[in-house]
Amino acid sequence: MTEDVGAIVLIANYYEYDFKKMLEELEDKTYDGICWKCDLEKVKEGMPVYIYYSSMPDGINRICLASEILKTDVEPELIRKSFNLDENSQVEKYILISKPKAIVPEQIDQFSFENLKKYNINNLQGKRYLYKQSHKQLLKLLAENTKNIGSKRIITELFGLSCEFAYDKNEIFHSTKHTTFKRENGLEYYESHHFIHRAQHAINNKPMSEFIESKDNIVILCPLCHNRIHYGSIKDKLYMVNKIYEKKKEIIKEKTNITLEQLHNMYLTSYELKKIDKEKNS
Ligand SMILES: [Zn+2]
Ligand SMILES: [Zn+2]
Repeated sequence: MTEDVGAIVLIANYYEYDFKKMLEELEDKTYDGICWKCDLEKVKEGMPVYIYYSSMPDGINRICLASEILKTDVEPELIRKSFNLDENSQVEKYILISKPKAIVPEQIDQFSFENLKKYNINNLQGKRYLYKQSHKQLLKLLAENTKNIGSKRIITELFGLSCEFAYDKNEIFHSTKHTTFKRENGLEYYESHHFIHRAQHAINNKPMSEFIESKDNIVILCPLCHNRIHYGSIKDKLYMVNKIYEKKKEIIKEKTNITLEQLHNMYLTSYELKKIDKEKNS
């Protein structure tokens, strides 16, 4: 029995996806939407499209955008024009999708890879179909949790990052701007720091690897703050660790049984720990 295709899922790698081009396309009047390379055969006009982003900096890959197929076969001339290709170059098959709606940021984790497994979406290696029967529930959930937002806001609300300490009141953070540089894909560069370090496989005999790789353990930092939390003075490191701990306290208590003291020990070198001991005893 052949199942009816209800929708398609397109995959984009966060670090490779050209957000700059997406913005240009959204503002370009030549198109009503965005061109997307797609050679799936069962695509039809009007079919819902979901865009799944992989390699998200917070570690959670998810569906971020929802759209609809406007055209299943974009004319090669338009594609050549859009990608600045010369007249003779061969172009692959492109579909045109409407300007995307964004998943409401507060609901975004519902569309993570883990949750998509509930809908039998176990493998997201490439473009794929969503069959009507098994994905009705998902389609409903998606329809309820998307909103129209302006093109620039799609990028900043869902994909834009900023340093955890960008707005911190402590004067040690005032001398830097916490902004970095634009990558080729149009997004500003930041780093993901694992609050409980990756080397920490277990804490108090509790395996940690699952928590370590989860969103709850990731802190987005500018390169300067990232180096400071690893290599800063004792005072600076502890300030940063305490601040992050305060913010994540609930989840850290629930998922790990690490104490603040253990966290401090994790961030301080043995030289620094000895120094603190000496000061205490003198
Ligand atoms: Zn920073
Ligand atoms: Zn780090």
